Order: sequence, then C-alpha cells, then structure tokens
Amino acid sequence: MEYLLRNIDSPNSAEITEYEKAGGYEGLKKALKIDPKDLIELVKKSGLRGRGGAGFPTGMKWMFASADPKFPKYLVCNADEGEPGTFKDRPILEKNPHLLIEGMAISAHALKSEKGYIYLRGEYPYAKTVLEKAIAQAYKRGYLGADILGSGIKFDLSVHQGAGAYICGEETALIDSIEGRRGQPRIKPPFPVSVGLFGKPTIVNNVETLSNLPFIVEVGAEAYSKIGNPECPGNKLFCISGHVAKPGVYELPMGTTLRDIIYGHAGGIKNGKALKAVIPGGISTPVFPPDKLDCPMDFVSVPKFGSMLGSGAVIVFDETTCLVRVTWRALKFFEHESCGKCTPCREGTGWLRTVLERIENGQGRPGDVELLEDISKNIAGKTLCPLGDGAASVVMNFIKHFRGEFEGHLKGGCTFNAPEFRQA
Ligand code: SF4
Repeated sequence: MEYLLRNIDSPNSAEITEYEKAGGYEGLKKALKIDPKDLIELVKKSGLRGRGGAGFPTGMKWMFASADPKFPKYLVCNADEGEPGTFKDRPILEKNPHLLIEGMAISAHALKSEKGYIYLRGEYPYAKTVLEKAIAQAYKRGYLGADILGSGIKFDLSVHQGAGAYICGEETALIDSIEGRRGQPRIKPPFPVSVGLFGKPTIVNNVETLSNLPFIVEVGAEAYSKIGNPECPGNKLFCISGHVAKPGVYELPMGTTLRDIIYGHAGGIKNGKALKAVIPGGISTPVFPPDKLDCPMDFVSVPKFGSMLGSGAVIVFDETTCLVRVTWRALKFFEHESCGKCTPCREGTGWLRTVLERIENGQGRPGDVELLEDISKNIAGKTLCPLGDGAASVVMNFIKHFRGEFEGHLKGGCTFNAPEFRQA
C-alpha cells in the first residue's frame, strides 16, 4: 500500500484542499494531543530509519536532540538530493508538499522545535515555487505559525534554496550554507544534534524520513513496524534509471528484492539486452554484478551482499555499457564536487579522473589499474566526509568486479560502441 506517493496522480495533488480531502493533516491533529516524549517513543518503536542514506534510527537521533537542554532547537529538512541517480524526493516536493509539511510539524512538536528550514537543492526551482505556495496555505489554515490549531504550539517553516553544490547534502555543510557561509563539512564531533545550526541543537532529516511521520501517527508504531523487513520497516522510495523499460520512482516495502524492482516493476532491461551491472543506492554505493539480484533492498540486507542501500537510487547498465567510461564519468563528478577542504579528496579525485581518462582514451600505461587501486586506498578512510570515501569506493568496486574490462582497455582503449556515452 502506498502512503508516500498516494494521490500524486491527482492533477491538484499539491493543493491543500486535495490533501485534506484525502485525510491530510489528521496525523498532525492527533499528534498535537500526544506528549512530545511519547511521540519520540512512538517513532522509536516504529523502527523508522533515516531515508537519506545512512539509515540511522530516527527515534534515537531525536532522543539525543531532545535530551539536550539547550534552546532553541532547529529542525532542518534535507531536500538537497544531489547524488547521481537520485530523484526519489522530487515527487514529494513537487506533488505532495503537504505530506512533508505535516511530517515536519509533527516532528517539530516531538522535538519542541519552533523553527524549521527546508534546505532545497538549487536545481529544483519548480519545487521551491510549490513548497512556498504550500507553506503559505498551511499558515492560512493554522497548521503552521504561532498557535497551531489553537494548541499553543509554535512552529515556523521556510525554504532555503542551495546554490547547486552536491556537498551541501552533507548535514554540516548544509548547516554552513544556511548560515550564509560557503558549504563545507565540519569536523565531527560535535554533532549537529548538540551543536548545529547557529550553534544550537539541530535535527537534520531527509524529505522521505519526515514524510513517513503522518502515516506512523495514523496507523501506530506496531502496524508500521510490520511493513517490509521488521529490522528496517516501512515503505521505501526507489528511483530507477538507466537501461530499464520503465524508469521512475516506485514506492515499495523495504526488503523488496533488486530483481523484483528491476524486472517486476521497472519492466526489465530495455531492448531485450542483458544486464551487466547495477548500482543499488546511488553512484557512491558499491556496484553489483548481475548475480546479486536476489538482494533484499533495505538498510540491513544490502551490506550483507557487499553494498549499501544509500538513497535507494538504482542505476542499471546493460551489456553495451563501457564500465571504465562509467567510472571515469563518476570521477569527473566527484572531482568537480569536492569542496577542497581535505587533501586526499581534493587531489585524489583529480588523479583518479586523470588515470581513468587516459585508460578510456587508449593511453593507459601498464600498472594503471594498480595505480587506481593505490590512489583509492589512500583516499578511503582519510577524508573529512563521505564524498572522498564514495569516490574511492566507486573505483575500487568497479575494478573488483570488472577488472578484466579495465585491463582490456590497456590494450588499445575502449572497444564499446555506445555513442550516447561518448559525450564527455
Ligand atoms: Fe570536502 Fe572532499 Fe574533504 Fe568532503 S572529503 S570535506 S568534499 S575535500
């Protein structure tokens, strides 16, 4: 059963009247009567895990923040989805904005936060228009503001749009950006739950995470915890791109297998081609060869198969794809998006891109594959934020599973004839 994407096919799904007609804001009305401590307990019992990539238990994160006596506390929605292949939050932002606003108002009550921000990626201008209109509607109806529905509870919400930097999806860089600085990750600890926005306790949660709240309050923790994998319950938005017949965003229970997502929902590999490789959770997550298709897609199972669920962005490559070129293209992205704060990432992503570029273009040298591995090992685990690790992981895992293809390129360059991938 869908609860994140329900009603989004209605032409006016972003309007508050449509949302209310479908039972919207009933969760908030119910939540306002619940003590904040009990609300946090409800989320803990539900088993909800953050949907931004790390899969950290949401209730536990909230507990840390609520235990901190400092005031004010800020609630920040991370809507900066910039991981290549990731577009799962976009339908909520553009077509179901009131679900997110309701989820934030419920979360703010639990956390006793009176001010929230939606940090929106720079490349989503339409979502900004939709969100700002929806927020204005919510204020008018009394779901936001100084005295929400006469409860005496206050919560103000605004949109802060980024300038298009991938690194601002990292929570401390995002906080820097809201504060008006250049977005760069901070050294942790202290963590944002104790020293975050403007030095105050700050909870940063992903769009999809916060959008689960109205449903959890509606059905209760027990019913929610029975959806999907009990260790990691609820529905997940999977965004599927690449060589599939029906790319798009699918709302499915956690634990749905990769095979079912690709062949059951996304229509299989297009044009009758064979599957060559699949990235299960966005470009930073380790690639899978085709023999991993029975992997249940949730935060607990994917690591057992050697990768990560990440953002749930499934990128599919058919047999015509040059995976050296894919790796090179990914490193061009990481080099461009490196914020430059730490040396292994700033220099290393450029070195990796240079070596991959020459291998792809037929100028590879003996020992280049080993050189890529060596550079990657000197980046992994030695950087300030996960961008460096992600870049190293892409290279190491494509080599691990497709070494022959990299070595084959050393004997004269790329032999794949895929013009659509020839654009640098
Ligand atoms: Fe910046 Fe890269 Fe270091 Fe992250 S790993 S702080 S993006 S230089």
